[in-house]
Parts: sequence; structure tokens; C-alpha cells
Amino acid sequence: MSQHYFNKILIANRGEIACRVIRTARKLGISTVAVYSDADKNALHVSMADEAIHIGGAPSRDSYLVYERVIDAAKKTGAEAIHPGYGFLSENAEFCKACKDNGIVFIGPPVAAIEAMGSKSAAKTIMEKAAVPLVPGYHGDDQSRDVLKQAADDMGYPVLLKAVAGGGGKGMRQVWSESEFDEALAAAKREANNSFGNDDMLVEKYLTQPRHVEIQVFCDQHGNAVYLFERDCSVQRRHQKVIEEAPAPGMTEALRTAMGAAAIRSAQAINYEGAGTVEFLLDSDGSFYFMEMNTRLQVEHPVTEMITRQDLVEWQLRVAAGEVLPATQQALSLTGHAFEARIYAEDPDNDFLPATGSLSFLQPPQNSTHVRVDTGVLQGDEVSVYYDPMIAKLIVWDENRDKALQRLTKALKEYRISGITTNIDFLYNLANSQPFRDADLDTGFIEKHHEAIFHAGAADLEKELPLASLYLILEQQQQARKKRAQSHDANSPWFDANGWRLNEAPGHRFQLQIHQQVYTVVAEQLGTGSNSRYAITVNGKTVLAQGQLQGTELSATIDGHQLRASVAAYEGSYSLYTQHSALSFSEVKPDLGDTDTGTDSGGLNAPMNGTMVALLVEADAAVKKDDALLVMEAMKMEHTIRAPADGKVIEFYYQAGQLVDGGAELVNFEVVE
Ligand code: ADP
Repeated sequence: MSQHYFNKILIANRGEIACRVIRTARKLGISTVAVYSDADKNALHVSMADEAIHIGGAPSRDSYLVYERVIDAAKKTGAEAIHPGYGFLSENAEFCKACKDNGIVFIGPPVAAIEAMGSKSAAKTIMEKAAVPLVPGYHGDDQSRDVLKQAADDMGYPVLLKAVAGGGGKGMRQVWSESEFDEALAAAKREANNSFGNDDMLVEKYLTQPRHVEIQVFCDQHGNAVYLFERDCSVQRRHQKVIEEAPAPGMTEALRTAMGAAAIRSAQAINYEGAGTVEFLLDSDGSFYFMEMNTRLQVEHPVTEMITRQDLVEWQLRVAAGEVLPATQQALSLTGHAFEARIYAEDPDNDFLPATGSLSFLQPPQNSTHVRVDTGVLQGDEVSVYYDPMIAKLIVWDENRDKALQRLTKALKEYRISGITTNIDFLYNLANSQPFRDADLDTGFIEKHHEAIFHAGAADLEKELPLASLYLILEQQQQARKKRAQSHDANSPWFDANGWRLNEAPGHRFQLQIHQQVYTVVAEQLGTGSNSRYAITVNGKTVLAQGQLQGTELSATIDGHQLRASVAAYEGSYSLYTQHSALSFSEVKPDLGDTDTGTDSGGLNAPMNGTMVALLVEADAAVKKDDALLVMEAMKMEHTIRAPADGKVIEFYYQAGQLVDGGAELVNFEVVE
């Protein structure tokens, strides 16, 4: 490509998406301007850009959301266009308008298109006119209880009440029978009022096992429109996407064409320009219904790039510069299969509570034609309370779903992060589960297959606890052998890890921590030398184990069952990967009085910027360890904060409804010994 579409653009975002946009701009010879907050002075996106402008304090409302500062930065640096990324200002009609007013190109749709999709009922009215199928329902102006109730009775239960101004799954209630209607309506209205200051409702038929299938569309300023096929984003936790894939499993050519055409009708109904996504619910009978249109580039756009071999950011830049679309519908084809897994700093075992802390060790899998890691962080960076805790997107491609899935699990296995709790084991277990392999997808996938994914089952631990124990024993011996080899006194018993203890039978006793649980392991060595066997007693069960450790590869025989595992180790924390599962554990070292209890467990500080939703106990009332104390909402999700020990709350520092800064202390808690 010889042409420069713009000489210089500003990226009004941070993290992986800012880095992603900069990569394409560089490829096209376009200069880039980054903006950054106090917390992001040394961030990767800042160092990647040609120039960077400081725009304010760490909380996004003091920096990334202050659009006047973003526009000033563009003017100051002579940027001709602004790429908003996703989130932050990307769907803010006022910002889009301010760009225009200042002679800056907004790399996105026109103001009117953003506005048209702002209200769920107005959007449904537009789509109805454009003959786009809608979930059967009522989205009229008459908001009286009787009209809403009649609509629900007529369509039959279950129904879903949805806030017209809603977003992020808020102001939404399922109603399973007529008798629940009034209570659900009151609750949905209350929540909508609190969140959006508008309690208007629409009523929809509630689909019980839908898939979330969305279509990527692109329109230029010359009336051309294409769709770049679909993505299946059914695997969600609390309506937030976890793993996305393209194409959608089981998609027929006829359905793809019908959904593509409907998506284009949606976009054209609002005179769309640029990249957009039309989200549909796909029912088990092949019916599909418009849900909403996102007027920006989506987080999960890379899976589309992988199967179409197109650079969607390049498309955005070309369209924004007034060019015609880079390809016609006929010229577009899809090849192979791609997955994206979102790697988050969060604790899946604790309600996906966001985690914060330092990425003390970070080793992503190698990039290749099959593996792509989109990230905005480097080893040593902080995941702070201020922003979305996504660490990276892991994207894989291969010629079919099975092969791509194998790439995904392999890459997850190779993804090594220490210093912070992540969802990698959870993703690995999810991707490896039989229902996911079978592509048995719907939006209730995670709840439905909770057991298989969360791996809390005692049966799994029964195998893994001895395996993890054996690993630690063999690793200790390996270390001791190394030390002995380096030592002048090769026979010194101080370097002998063969269970050597003064006045004791040869044995090992140590403690393993898995999630919050500590297990005491007693291992008795039978025989000596490298072929020793061990009687390992843990969690009330004794097994006979024997094994070999070579580097990170463990081959073991446990009660006659031969197993292989790889182990990633970093500073006393380990991840053990077998063919079917992943397990993170650490060795509990004896308390020497200065133990660091860790900062990533959520504790009694706000996990991130958010709002207090509810206080669940009375001040001064006795509570038990792990009792729920309060609910906070952050990043579109509710998080329950639990008692760290038996004790009582002396004082809550925030009341329901109050804004809370990330990191702020939430309660004064007294531990009762
Ligand atoms: P929000 O804008 O608040 O995120 P959406 O309308 O996009 O709300 O819906 C979010 C999620 O809720 C969807 O991805 C889907 O999982 C579920 N959902 C929405 N509408 C329905 C429906 N009519 N039936 C079943 N599930 C639905």
C-alpha cells in the first residue's frame, strides 16, 4: 500500500486495544499519539506510540473519559483523526460530535448512528421497520403496569423485563410465571432507576437456551456494506464474554447468509459507517433475533481477522479516510477456525472477583501463524484497581475447530503468569471440558457445566493432590542434587533431600495450598535412589506413587495409574497441567513472622472503582469467616466481599449507592480470635 490515509492519529484508549491500533497504524506509515493517565506513565501503549500526552488522574473519569482533554491532545499534536478503541468514549455521541466540531475525524460511525442505538426500545422500533427479526415482545410507550402485564400474559412465560436505557445486564429480570410478575417488575424498575435514572421497561419472550451469535459488518461512506461472517460468543459469565469463536459451530450457509443480510439491513437502517457488530440471539430451532448493535470495534474482533485474513483496524482507517471498502462481499471468504480467550486478573473461584497486583512473572506463548497474543502489559506491570483487569487476549487459529481447540489448550498451558490470580486455569478447564469440545453451546454454558469446569470435584483432587505432592518431593530432590553437585562436600547430609531427618523415619511432611484450602501431606519414602516409591497420605487417603521429573515434565505412576503432567513453577507457586485439567497450588512455607498474606485476594478493600450496592450484615453483629458482608458493583458485575475470618464489622465506610474508589477501605473489621 502506497497511500497514507492520515498522517497522524490519536488513540483515545489504553491497554491492549491501544497497542493493537498502533500496530496497524505503524504498518500503514501513520504516526501515532497516545494519551495516558497518572497510572499509565510507563504503560506499553505509551512507549509504542510516537508521542504521548498526559491527560489526567488515574480514575478514568479524570482522564480517559474527559473528552475535552482528549480533543485538546489531538489539537496540540496535530492528529487528524481519533480512534476511540472500545469502552471509554467509543460509543459516546457527544464525543463523536465534539470531534466533528473541532475538525477531527472520528474513526467510527456518524453521531446519529450512535444515538439511534442508545435506547433499546428506539433501536427495536428502527429494526422492526427494517424487517430485522426481533425477539417477540412489547417495546411501546405505554408503560402502565396493566399494559406490560398483558403483553407478558399474551406472549406466555417465561418473559424477560429489560430496562429501555439498560446496559451491562442491569435492570433485567426473568419472570417465570404470572404470579412473579409484579415483584419482578418492581425490582427491575428499581434497578433501572438507580442505574440509568429511567425505569421504562420493555418485555421480551425469554429464550431458555439461546446462543449469542453476532455478525461483523462494515459500511463505507459510499453506500457499500458487507458482513465478515459471524462470531459465537455464547460462553459468558454474568453476560460477559469469556471465550469467543468464529465461525459459529454448526452454522449452515443458508443461516449465515440470512443473518448476514439481516445485519446489513440493521446497519443500513441507521446509515452506518465503519465497523459495527449486530448481536443476535440464535434459538435452538434456527430462529434468530436482533438484540443490539454495537457501534464500535469489538474486543473479540481478532477471531474475525484470523478467519478472513483481513486487518479490521486497517479497514476502519481506510473507511474513515473516505475510501471504498477494501473488499466486496463476493471477494470475502472464511478459512479455518479461530478462538479468543480473554485472560483476566480475577479469581474464578471467588465469583470472578477482579484481582490486582504486580505481574511479577509474565511469559505468554510464542506468537506464530497459529497463535496471537494481543496485550498491553509487560512483566513487572501493575494490574491496578482503576481499569478493566484484562491482561491479554489469546487468539488461536487452525484449519478446523478441533485443531484450533488443541492450539488453544496448548497455548493456555504455556501461558505463565505469577504474582496475580488469573483465570487461566479456569479457561483451560473450560476449553478442555467435553461439552465445549462437543460445541454444546448456549448462554447458560458455564452455569450448566459448572462441575466440569470448576473442577471442585473431589474425584479430580484425589488424583491431583498426590501428583502435586510427588512433584514437590521430586523437585526438592532435584534442587538438592544440584546443590550437592556444586558443593565441595558432596556427601554432606545438609544437601540430601531423600527425606533425611535426624531421629526420624525417612519421610516428608509439608503443606500444600490450593485456592483457599491448605492440605497437609505426609510422604513416606520406600527404598532409596531415583526409583524410590512414596506412600503419600493427603486428604485422608494414602496412595503409592513413583515418578520421574525432567525439567518441567513429570511422569508418574499413582496406584498403578500412569500419568503425565507439565508444571510451571515460579517462586513457590505452581501450575500443574495434566491432559485434562489444570491445577494451581503453592507450598505453604513455615511462618517466619514476616509472611506476606498477598494483596490479590480482594480482601476488605474495593477491588476496583465501583458502587456500593448493599450492606449485608449489621455493624457489631458476629460473623463467621467467609460470610458475605457487602456487595459492590464494578466493571458491570456485582462482587461479594466476604469476612476474612470470624469477627465483626465495627463500621462500614460506605452506604449503598455511594461511589467507591478502587483500593479504598470498605469496612473496619475486627477479627475475633
Ligand atoms: P445489556 O445491554 O444489558 O448487556 P442485552 O440485551 O445485550 O443486555 O442482553 C445481554 C445478555 O442477556 C445476552 O447476551 C443474552 O445472554 C441475555 N438475553 C438478552 N435478551 C434475552 C432474551 N430475550 N432471552 C434470553 N436471554 C436474553
